[in-house]
Amino acid sequence: MQHLETNRSSAEDHLECPLDGQIQTVINDHTIYTTTDLRGIIKKVSPAFCKRSGYGSEELVGRSHSLLRSPDTHDGIYDELWQTIEDDKTWSGEIKNIAKNGQPYWIRCMINPLFCESGKKVGYIAVRDNITREKEIEAHALTDEVTQIYNRRKINKDIAVALERHQRYDAPCSLVLLDIDRFKSFNDRYGHLIGDEILIQISAFINTNTRSSDIFARWGGDEFALLLPDVSTLKAAKMCEKLRESVAEKACSTLQECFNISEHISCSFGVTSIQKGDNMDSLLGRTDRALYLAKENGRNRVEII
Ligand code: GH3
Ligand code: MG
Repeated sequence: MQHLETNRSSAEDHLECPLDGQIQTVINDHTIYTTTDLRGIIKKVSPAFCKRSGYGSEELVGRSHSLLRSPDTHDGIYDELWQTIEDDKTWSGEIKNIAKNGQPYWIRCMINPLFCESGKKVGYIAVRDNITREKEIEAHALTDEVTQIYNRRKINKDIAVALERHQRYDAPCSLVLLDIDRFKSFNDRYGHLIGDEILIQISAFINTNTRSSDIFARWGGDEFALLLPDVSTLKAAKMCEKLRESVAEKACSTLQECFNISEHISCSFGVTSIQKGDNMDSLLGRTDRALYLAKENGRNRVEII
């Protein structure tokens, strides 16, 4: 009994004053963190950071995090990040990085200012979680299976964000619904598999002919939605007119050649912009009516409401 008591109290003592070095080793091995000076130059990296990024600490210390930056990340994120931490606030957000082997990975990052004893700010500490798997699952849930572009769930989220941005900042944004003309006849004549190929190639063509800030998604069947942030109705109509023409010419002739199709392939476009007081229903209703007009007025055309 005496022996047990002694053992317990020495174990408790040990928990009360663990060795600092031991704690530091565990934190270093399992926490992906860096510290920087006030300009963002890396001063210290944890072994866990090196393991995740593939870089050695000697390749990172003295450099800025731009070494890991993905070209997909907008400057705006970094501007917001610097504004926040320069104001001595904590910034947190999700960032895509590129490892040394070229593979992208996602992190959820929290950056805090560091102060010395006198209260002077000396740098920053950034602690990260690896959320790559989470992001992969999310991407899968937001991708259309046939065309591999975004699905309706994804663009619905973005439309909701655009409606909110418009209400708060009056930010312009246009929405387009486009639909393949007489698609049913292609399915009937050439079969569903060729029909699927037409869907895949037209969506890939449009995807590569839109800006990276635009959201292009399969709305359902042979219908697609295109969200154009910071674009007015007139500019959106001009962009759609160019797209319409290139689908009816370039994409059409490629598809005709690929699948030995004699019929002409084209799309109709309905365009509108977010207006004051709009909600999801009013915006989608108006875009749908614009598309209906394009079909009514002869197809292979762009209509604005
Ligand atoms: P409109 O010019 O008025 O748009 O005529 P349409 O024939 O394109 O319109 P309709 O809505 O009658 O036909 C759309 C067709 O799209 C019917 C459906 O069988 C086909 N479809 C929907 N989803 C898929 C798909 O995933 N693969 C294939 N191959 N066909 C699909
Ligand atoms: Mg159609």
